[in-house]
Amino acid sequence: MTLTAPSRPLTREPAATPTLMPAPRSLHVMTWGCQMNAYDSGRMADILRPLGYAPVATPDADLVILNTCHIRERAADKLFSELGRLRTLKEARPGGMLIAVAGCVAQAEGAEILARAPYVDLVMGSQAYHRLPVLLEAVTLGGVPVIDTDFPAEQKFEHLPSNQASQGPIAFLAIQEGCDKFCTFCVVPYTRGAEQSRPAASILAEASRLVALGAREIALLGQNVNAWHGEGPDGKSWPLARLLAALADINDLARLRYTTSHPRDMSADLIAAHRSNAKLMPFLHLPVQSGSDLILAAMNRRHNIDLFRRIVGELRDNRPDIALSSDFIVGFPGETDADFEATMKLVAETGFALAYSFKYSRRPGTPAADAPDQVPEPVKNARLHELQALLRLQQDDFNRAQIGQQFDVLFTGPGRHPGQFAGRSPYLQPVIVDATHLTTGQIAPVRITAANPNSLMASLTDVNTELSREHQAA
Ligand code: SF4
Repeated sequence: MTLTAPSRPLTREPAATPTLMPAPRSLHVMTWGCQMNAYDSGRMADILRPLGYAPVATPDADLVILNTCHIRERAADKLFSELGRLRTLKEARPGGMLIAVAGCVAQAEGAEILARAPYVDLVMGSQAYHRLPVLLEAVTLGGVPVIDTDFPAEQKFEHLPSNQASQGPIAFLAIQEGCDKFCTFCVVPYTRGAEQSRPAASILAEASRLVALGAREIALLGQNVNAWHGEGPDGKSWPLARLLAALADINDLARLRYTTSHPRDMSADLIAAHRSNAKLMPFLHLPVQSGSDLILAAMNRRHNIDLFRRIVGELRDNRPDIALSSDFIVGFPGETDADFEATMKLVAETGFALAYSFKYSRRPGTPAADAPDQVPEPVKNARLHELQALLRLQQDDFNRAQIGQQFDVLFTGPGRHPGQFAGRSPYLQPVIVDATHLTTGQIAPVRITAANPNSLMASLTDVNTELSREHQAA
């Protein structure tokens, strides 16, 4: 079949509902990027299950979806190189193959993808995947590629089927999507659209389903998750702290987290929830990006360092053992040595348990990409090296400080070596114990015996007791 690019994107759903018979078909989803993308990939599989699609581990499949991420450098290059490999597979496959590109690169590059890779059948933005059945029908009936990168008027969240598949003891639940902040380096407001908050009733129902399927810990996801302000069952707008309180009432749900947050949206009630909500884990990812007010202003972050310091202080007042994680960008346009030193100072005085740090790289279409005062690459490299050395030291110190500590671990399954079981600490660290009698999803107290760079070794203190400090108010 010869595929040609459409003269215009599909902007309306076909009138007919999908009529594809649910014959058994194979689906392979490749996911790049954040937890939100991983979550979206799972939901795409849920949506396609009634059409007969079953996930397979290799790209030798009837439908291959590339769920892309635009945050990292050369995202489009990576996509086109993967598409080249798939093209060969598609041409050699007797049963044919549909190739779909989803996610943020699809949203940003749209028609460019079909122009460079006309063997792609479907390009859909991150707001369109709930329409997968009708889009696939349009592809198969129309015989031409389809693009859907619109931001539809209806909320994607309202059109998703219920989550039927177990994610295991640690589950992710998207409650918010999009962003209105428009940081000058970031593509998310353009690729994911304006902030949308999912209604509380739908979140609570999905959380209960996940718990019934075996989840003990739920991480709420959103690009700007603490900006969530969904409609409550009472018809009023709820803040995130209230949603977390309602989720904490679900029996058998032991742990709650939320990510990723913006300092501007760390409201007083949310900070206080870290004291009052015993199921909220003492770990928070709170990106600050830079320690310089000048750079924060140039980034349009809408907060300054004073506010960040105040939030950290209040979080620690409310939950003294809270561990913090953050994101940093070095070499943002205009960043001077003094600005970078301010970042190093902030890191040194705050102390982070974990952090993600990157060199600034231009994202086409964002304001900072056109800034005249780009920082030379060698300077960026040197700054990143220096910052990462300090962050690594802090992470090692944090992990070593756990030796001798006791806390509950949520066990997620056997470890890599025979006779070991692995789990997660309240602070997100992987924890490994020598034990064979534990079960997946069990929470048991341990004592930390050793710290490796990326994991902790521990011994069980009492496997019959499934309660220690994480079930008590901090
Ligand atoms: S708040 Fe986060 S998602 Fe929103 S524009 Fe800034 S960096 Fe991007």
